Amino acid sequence: MSHTNLRRSWVSSANGHSDFPLQNLPLGIFSRAGASPRGGVAIGDLILDLGAVAELLDGLAKIAAQAASTNSLNAYFALGAEPRRALRTALLCLLDENSDQQAELHPLLYLQTDCQMHLPAKVGDYTDFYVGIHHAMNVGKLFRPDNPLLPNYKYVPIGYHGRASTLDVSGTALRRPHGQTLAPGSEVPDFGPCKRLDYELELGIWIGTGNRLGQPIAIGQAAEHIAGFCLLNDWSARDLQAWEYQPLGPFLSKSFATSVSPWVVSAEALEPFRAAQQPRPAGDPQPLPYLNDANDQQHGALAIELEVLLLTAAMREAELPPERLALSHTRHMYWTVAQLVAHHSANGCKLQPGDLFGSGTLSGPEPGQFGSLLEMTEGGKHPITLSNGETRRFLEDGDEVILKARCNLPGLPPIGFGECRGKVLPALR
Ligand code: CA
Repeated sequence: MSHTNLRRSWVSSANGHSDFPLQNLPLGIFSRAGASPRGGVAIGDLILDLGAVAELLDGLAKIAAQAASTNSLNAYFALGAEPRRALRTALLCLLDENSDQQAELHPLLYLQTDCQMHLPAKVGDYTDFYVGIHHAMNVGKLFRPDNPLLPNYKYVPIGYHGRASTLDVSGTALRRPHGQTLAPGSEVPDFGPCKRLDYELELGIWIGTGNRLGQPIAIGQAAEHIAGFCLLNDWSARDLQAWEYQPLGPFLSKSFATSVSPWVVSAEALEPFRAAQQPRPAGDPQPLPYLNDANDQQHGALAIELEVLLLTAAMREAELPPERLALSHTRHMYWTVAQLVAHHSANGCKLQPGDLFGSGTLSGPEPGQFGSLLEMTEGGKHPITLSNGETRRFLEDGDEVILKARCNLPGLPPIGFGECRGKVLPALR
């Protein structure tokens, strides 16, 4: 176990904190009542103001803290890995139980419960991938029982261009969308409120340094272009999607809302939770050379547990806790995050600091591991029954979906991502 893993903080709530112990130190954008949004770092139940703490730093760490002091992390992301690591090292010292700067830091800390969180960055472009192979299989079976995976899946990291303008931070409610749907047996679509609203459990990937137009990012360098990770819920209107998706893929069925968790968990915090990519099943092709890197295959996967919980209006009324719908894992990614960066830029496409990727729904192979209701209910055929007796085929108004993620391996202090939550509001009349 490395020295970092044994360290404790003088911020007492950090020690043993389920999400934000000293070893995590994720960045986000927060505001207090009457104050403008600014960058902060989560430590236990508190947030440390990065602009203020910059006064106590020097060198690259100071530059990074200053870049993170505004109302978005784009400038901080653009600095790349070295200043980010310098700031992390400095924060580990300042917040360590042996720090001699506790008195200076006390006034720069705020209770998270007194603060509002904002989107971490101004997102130029948002791309949603489809790397959860069990999700691709489960959904493919609903549409093509004999041929669930299309032949390109094992060669190309499949994705589509999502809508950046409708990204919002955890806690923002979403409105049930209207759209065109084709009723079973009908040949002409109706326009009206979505009847098959769903969530998708995904890992979000924040791009740090970008690339110049026309200059692909090599697979060996791709991981260095990732600033950090979050949770992402790709809200999906399945009835709109089924009607509109051919031949160009999802459009209005996805572009009405996407939720992300507010804290950016850095690659450095996840370093102890790196893993080898799962071996491909016998008979699968190896990645083409531009996506194949020995180091990435050995260390480029992630060991993150992912969870979906549901809190219905009736459960809220009865003061019941949210109920777990699924427990999944990032090991179900068929492609590594570095492969996504290398593939996205392989044609020369320009990635920019603050661009966001979604992994695609990360389902496991077994019931209880499915990252969408579409899979849990087999397209609405088999409703699930909740422990209070309610049933669901898809989401009802008042339902709140909560995504969580944690890294938990023997001998390491666990770290978490916080929450990504969103409540469904009724459609406009
Ligand atoms: Ca998705």
